[in-house]
Amino acid sequence: MLKQDTITAVATPPGEGGIAIVRISGPEAHRIAERIFRPRSRRDLSASPGGATRYGRFIDPQTGEAADDGLLTLFRRPRSYTGEDVVELSCHGGRANTARILQLTLQAGARLAEPGEFTERAFLNGRVDLAQAEAVADVIRAQTEAARRLARRQLEGTVSQAVYHLKDELIGILAAIEVTIDFSDEVGELEYEPLEARMESVERDMIRLIESADRGRVLREGLNVAIVGRPNVGKSSLLNALLRAERAIVTPIAGTTRDLIEETAHIGGVPILLTDTAGIRDTLDVVERIGVERAQEAAGRSEVALLVVDVTEGITAEDRAIADQVAEAGVGRLLIVLNKCDLVDSGRAEEVAEQAQRLRADASTEVIALSAQTGEGLEALEEALMRPYLETERTQAEGSASVIVSNARHLQALEAARDSLREAGRTVAQRLPGDFIAIDVRGALESLGQITGETVTEDIIHRIFRDFCVGK
Ligand code: GDP
Repeated sequence: MLKQDTITAVATPPGEGGIAIVRISGPEAHRIAERIFRPRSRRDLSASPGGATRYGRFIDPQTGEAADDGLLTLFRRPRSYTGEDVVELSCHGGRANTARILQLTLQAGARLAEPGEFTERAFLNGRVDLAQAEAVADVIRAQTEAARRLARRQLEGTVSQAVYHLKDELIGILAAIEVTIDFSDEVGELEYEPLEARMESVERDMIRLIESADRGRVLREGLNVAIVGRPNVGKSSLLNALLRAERAIVTPIAGTTRDLIEETAHIGGVPILLTDTAGIRDTLDVVERIGVERAQEAAGRSEVALLVVDVTEGITAEDRAIADQVAEAGVGRLLIVLNKCDLVDSGRAEEVAEQAQRLRADASTEVIALSAQTGEGLEALEEALMRPYLETERTQAEGSASVIVSNARHLQALEAARDSLREAGRTVAQRLPGDFIAIDVRGALESLGQITGETVTEDIIHRIFRDFCVGK
């Protein structure tokens, strides 16, 4: 699969900047660099060991004109990003200057790289597997700290390791089946029970990875949170407190937040997309009714609903009705916020907390007492909100078994592998011969191989890398 030509591209973003880097990779990289670069010290470039850096001038090989001055960094294969000979030219930034240096490399014999071609070569040369190569694009695209950390871990190979482990298990299972097909005289007949147990254990591991994708998506894209509650309980105040900025208009008149207000806060580097609703409640006011409908819609789209109640008034029938509506809308988690705790003593707060706890007999429902006005208790709310996501992140950082899958392609492949394995399980349950079981186990293996890239088609590889930016 080794490519024979030498590619070049600007590796830094377009526009003005102190420095830009033009990267060259391929068998001709070093010779091309020699044609267009004159080091200030007269030492021969080809004599330099890998990783050498030289200061000098970039020269137009046809006219001898000095186009710019800067640094040249030399990498020798296979110890480079692509696994090929690589040269990086650090020149002055800016569109025209960078374009000029790029042009020199083209004149000297390189071809303009396609998007993602450097990383594609890194993959084809075995420097990284496919999941790691994809993580390069994720690191570059990450908009938030949480997304960056997630991509970084994938780049380090956590997802790949988990997949290799699953593959090892499946290969073991396949071997156990095949030995009874080929050597039934020596090893005896296929034993179904232990096979079943092994397959179930692999399936459980697969399901755990599949389920992690939900958390992965939240860490990458953010968490949708709807703030619901009757008018005047302090929804806008809570939104403001979470944003730590005045944006929603807080007024003491009931029903003033008629429209939805959407804002993004950040907790632990994760974007929290907050929707302040106009109070989900039955209303006769036409304008307000539209707001109410949109609020229900927003709640339905959210992973978490914060139901705000006014602790001074206790849990009212209206609060109960809203809690029911939230449950009906299909929101996964409900956090009940007892607001205005600055106005009551702790005895009263506890009393209302107990009432609130009974609103929903759901293990994931939590009650948090706070004051949107003083900010007391706000951190506890943030912590409760993010616990399911950040905890997995922490355990992962500590090197425990939990891995987060965040790539849609990986998720699809894992689901396909699980389906194949389930099919194999059904065949085992019917006590069919080993050949039949082996077919689906092989199918599962093939699906897993698509994640790390061993069994992926050239077409898919091409599509993945063309999604990258040029110069990567
Ligand atoms: P919304 O209609 O649910 O959005 O409620 P607002 O955020 O507009 O708040 C209604 C009223 O309650 C305003 O006068 C706020 O100043 C007041 N308020 C909100 N949160 C608190 C709180 O924690 N403590 C106190 N004392 N007043 C609050």
